Amino acid sequence: MPIKRRDLLAAAVPAVLLPASCARPGRRAEQTPAPKRVIRFAHFTDIHIEPRRNAPEGLAQALQHMQALEDKPTLLITGGDHVMDSFSAKASWTDEQFDAFRKVMRRHCRIPVKYCIGNHDVWGWDKKSSETTGREPHWGKNRPIHEFQMPGRYYGFSKGPWHFIILDSTHTADSNYKARLDDEQFAWLQAELETHRDKFIAIISHIPILSVAAFLDGDNAKEGHWSLPKEWMHLDAVALKDVFAKYPNVKLCISGHLHLVDRAEYNGVTYICDGAVCAAWWKGDYMECDEGYGVFDLYADGTFAHQYIPYGWIPVPE
Ligand SMILES: [Zn+2]
Repeated sequence: MPIKRRDLLAAAVPAVLLPASCARPGRRAEQTPAPKRVIRFAHFTDIHIEPRRNAPEGLAQALQHMQALEDKPTLLITGGDHVMDSFSAKASWTDEQFDAFRKVMRRHCRIPVKYCIGNHDVWGWDKKSSETTGREPHWGKNRPIHEFQMPGRYYGFSKGPWHFIILDSTHTADSNYKARLDDEQFAWLQAELETHRDKFIAIISHIPILSVAAFLDGDNAKEGHWSLPKEWMHLDAVALKDVFAKYPNVKLCISGHLHLVDRAEYNGVTYICDGAVCAAWWKGDYMECDEGYGVFDLYADGTFAHQYIPYGWIPVPE
């Protein structure tokens, strides 16, 4: 079996993760007391559960793996796309997928969960394929809001000196979607940042606000220039970057959607795309990404550490 580059990278990662501030050159460990950790949380994105492909067993294995870590996370934040697809799915198939998700979570998840909506969680926006009218109870984003008992499609909550902001990246575009915030949500985000100037901010969105990996999946340099699909990265990234520039307490933006792991830093904000629990939709690796989940440590001085942890899933042959 060939040695993959990511195996070499994994071998190079120290057993104890240090927050970013400890890695600065010229700082000696004995001079800098370790910052106090505020929270360790897991980030499960792009689960894409359905009754087939052993996907329920896969999610159960990921949850067991995460909860068996020696230093166990105390909170799970999801990154969206909990189900394979309800965007284009009829009512009964949508029910089966959400039922599968609910059953595994009830049985195997022992820590609190905060949810983020992904495009595949939005039921029936493709009215033709889903055979919906838009008047069904729990149509659209009401489906995941109801299913996960979310306070709304976007919301915030605090843990000590950190404030979390969960965004809704899926914006309507005819019978499809595009990646951006609506005006109402954008205004809410600005107010939320103003209210929490005294806290460090971690933002969770399903679709990346800014991503490196988005450029590398497929041929995005067609006809001599780079061009990304409207669904892959936030179209309002420049406007968001300008808002973040006014708030130096915004530290971290975490996303999923691409099923790839990357990290970009711009103007004091770190943007991390955090792989996928299902990797290639339960069919094995996706490009350089294994089935895995993120673990984040947030510290009282505004620093953080991230690791992407493969949980050893072996896909079943079709
Ligand atoms: Zn997605």
